[in-house]
Amino acid sequence: MKISSNYEINENKWNEFIYVFFKDIEDEVYIHVEESSKDITVFAKNEVNEINYTINKMIDNQVEVMLKSSLLKLYNIAVPWGSLVGVRPTKLVRKLLKKNDYDKILKILQHVYLVSDEKSKLLIDVVKNSIDYLDKDTIGIYIGLAFCPTKCTYCSFPAYLKKGKYEKRYEEYFDTLLREIREIGSLCKELNLKINSIYVGGGTPSYLNHEELEMLLTTIDGNIDLSNLKEYTFEAGRIDTIDKEKLMMLKRYSVTRISINPQSFKDSTLKLVNRYHNLEKLNEVYDVAKKLKFDINMDFIIGLPRENTEDVLNTLEKFKDYDPENVTFHYLAMKKASYLTKSKYFEENALDYILINNKILEVMKEKGYIPYYMYRQKSSSIDGENMGYCKVGKQLIYNIEMIEEYKNIISIGAGAITKIIKEDTIKRLINPKDPLMWVDEFEERLNEKKKVIREML
Ligand code: SF4
Repeated sequence: MKISSNYEINENKWNEFIYVFFKDIEDEVYIHVEESSKDITVFAKNEVNEINYTINKMIDNQVEVMLKSSLLKLYNIAVPWGSLVGVRPTKLVRKLLKKNDYDKILKILQHVYLVSDEKSKLLIDVVKNSIDYLDKDTIGIYIGLAFCPTKCTYCSFPAYLKKGKYEKRYEEYFDTLLREIREIGSLCKELNLKINSIYVGGGTPSYLNHEELEMLLTTIDGNIDLSNLKEYTFEAGRIDTIDKEKLMMLKRYSVTRISINPQSFKDSTLKLVNRYHNLEKLNEVYDVAKKLKFDINMDFIIGLPRENTEDVLNTLEKFKDYDPENVTFHYLAMKKASYLTKSKYFEENALDYILINNKILEVMKEKGYIPYYMYRQKSSSIDGENMGYCKVGKQLIYNIEMIEEYKNIISIGAGAITKIIKEDTIKRLINPKDPLMWVDEFEERLNEKKKVIREML
């Protein structure tokens, strides 16, 4: 698409928007903007159509947004998220909150961004339900284990199998992980940083054997100051890696929350995507976790291979038998790195997203969950947004921290990304994804990380 306008367009800011909606359109479009002290009018035309609309001035970058929205109007594109294409729509609402109340933000979303009534209300609900958990005075710690028992076919994360060269140097890898925990723990004490959340993820940290798990938990316990902790989460997403002894150990070391991720209640789907648990094992783990009074998070994926709408609806119906404190629904995004994109199993699923979305809302309402975090797929215009729901007061702080990017997160382990936030800029320090490369570059990168953290915090 070739756009000319009397208003200067910053093409870098437009790339994602054009890619999502107009990547195959080669039309020439002319857009004219007129601003008065009160209103902005945009006129847009292509060879077959023209549109013209005026809105009161409400936000600083309104012309930029209206230019995009005018293209949607010109091509009669009515999508639930309008011209809002970013991964983190809640960040926009928080930014707007500096100068506007929620009623005004609702109008801005609906009229300037053309977000649907349903999505704009959902977005505002998510912000209202999470805003009290934004605590800039503390930091979060993320610890990642880079290994998994098998590679799920849809996985695009840096998850490795303990085989070949990775198996040979596994001990060295694990020692390095413990070393980084000790180093970061002592740096946090030196800088007097208060830690309010720890998230142990990966990969699959529950893949560690009992002895390794105890070493990891002892190292965290002995080196990281847990006195300000509000939440300590441990991912046990792969149900086949969990047993009663591990759960009891997590409890002994003050873990408050675990993730056990069914993804789907259809056993044949699980085998197809290389996950090897069944309903019986899930129920066993879930019952023990409930008895031990963990807060539980369950993840589900919409759009798994060979699942049709009915399969997804069945999973949602079956979910009613459980009562975890948190539940997250992800829409499967096919990323280049995953095996599925290259395999025979991947067929574009013709799911009825509206029906599925309505069922999610119905089940969440019936079971008393509220929406508290959300992110959208990159470069996507699909209706489905990835949504986190929780019981009131059970918001998973780390999820909010990760999406909102409002506070410092120091991350440990291969592939882990540390984010240091200063004013409006985010400095990212990225550990190499490959566990062995991470081990080989450890000293140099750790020194750099410590230097940046000391300078910025
Ligand atoms: S458990 Fe998660 S990280 Fe591991 S292979 Fe599956 S999707 Fe990837």
